[in-house]
Amino acid sequence: MKYVKHLRCTLCQKTFNPNHVSYTCPNCGIEGILEVEFDYSALKNVINTKALINSHDFSMWRYSPLLCIESTQNLSSMLKIGWTPLYRANRLNKSIGINELYIKDESANPSGSTKDRASGIAVIKALEQNASIIACSSTGNAASSLACHASRMGLKTVIFIPKRAPIGKVTQMSLYGATLVSVDGDYKSAYQLSKKAIEQHGWYNRNAAINPYLVEGKKTVALELAEQLNFSLTDWIVVSVGDGCTIAGLYKGFYDLFHLGLIKKIPHLLGVQSEGCAPFYQAYINDEPLQEALEDTIADSIAVGIPRNPIKAMNAVKNSHGSWIAISDILILNAMHTLGSSEGLFAEPAGAASLAGLQEALAKGIIKPDESATIIMTGNGLKDPKNAEKTMPPLKTIKDDLNSLNEYLNQKGVI
Ligand SMILES: *Cc1c(COP(=O)(O)O)cnc(C)c1O
Ligand SMILES: [Zn+2]
Repeated sequence: MKYVKHLRCTLCQKTFNPNHVSYTCPNCGIEGILEVEFDYSALKNVINTKALINSHDFSMWRYSPLLCIESTQNLSSMLKIGWTPLYRANRLNKSIGINELYIKDESANPSGSTKDRASGIAVIKALEQNASIIACSSTGNAASSLACHASRMGLKTVIFIPKRAPIGKVTQMSLYGATLVSVDGDYKSAYQLSKKAIEQHGWYNRNAAINPYLVEGKKTVALELAEQLNFSLTDWIVVSVGDGCTIAGLYKGFYDLFHLGLIKKIPHLLGVQSEGCAPFYQAYINDEPLQEALEDTIADSIAVGIPRNPIKAMNAVKNSHGSWIAISDILILNAMHTLGSSEGLFAEPAGAASLAGLQEALAKGIIKPDESATIIMTGNGLKDPKNAEKTMPPLKTIKDDLNSLNEYLNQKGVI
């Protein structure tokens, strides 16, 4: 916390000392989401190209001065979060018609999604405060991630999930030893119940939108991208959006780098939503305030009818001169198949939505063929095998003789 100047309310703009507030703005209440503001001139002494080149820590904690933690004491016991691979596409860029394309593989995090970056912070903060229970509501990944890292650090978790959460994610949580509360309702209901329970029992709150330190964890994706591309970022960064914390984190990371003098401009952010649940996209297209949406999409991680971090997410797109897009579930399934069959990467629906969004943005002329883009593959396909199965043609079983085999291979165009 050494380099934190203060917390600023995104609604009333008042600033607060971090020691005097717990989560949101005392004046504005739950809507008053706080932004962390840093002392960049002091930070320049510890976060600069030389310090980064000399760092041996290949995890998100290589940026710990830029994260809001009190001490680095517990970091070495954590599972390794971050410094996920960045791949340059060799074929996919050509087939979708863009000059240069990179894929940030967040499925390589310990619990298989980008949520680990926020959970890492939550666990460290809970330990700092001697809390023994951390709670959150989640469409699936935030919870499986929290359960994972809490287990490693000896903390208990209480987790609120909607009835529809995919079985792969629920299995993860259970296996990591979480207390599961499956709420008879959607994500909105799970969120509301978790909020009441957290207030009543005083647990540490890992609801990413209202806990300003968690978006700071998510910004490490942006910091890594910059380093992995030698501080020369692609024109566009494409990411799927539910609550809005991930896109807000990306923007914050680029904002920090800009103010530290490490990058010359902030790349454009493209926020991708699913047509079945697109409150940000609708608000943007119709130029109206955000309205509650149904949660009807296979991309469960971004099926968020009432986004909890609207101001930061909308500012991220606006301030980066980016855009919003919505795509159908069919395009998401196609993108899953494309990522797998052309780059060897297996994404869950919300993880492949970024590719589908990029393709749609190219089709609409929002992104031009001579530009460059990075897609964030936010989650692992193994978390949701039921939806992945939908990308598969029916599997034909053949007789166990060579004639049948050759006939089959011939049909498939292999021979
Ligand atoms: C959480 C999540 C997102 C979206 O992040 P938000 O902060 O909710 O906008 C996208 N993809 C995956 C796989 C996620 O788990
Ligand atoms: Zn306020």
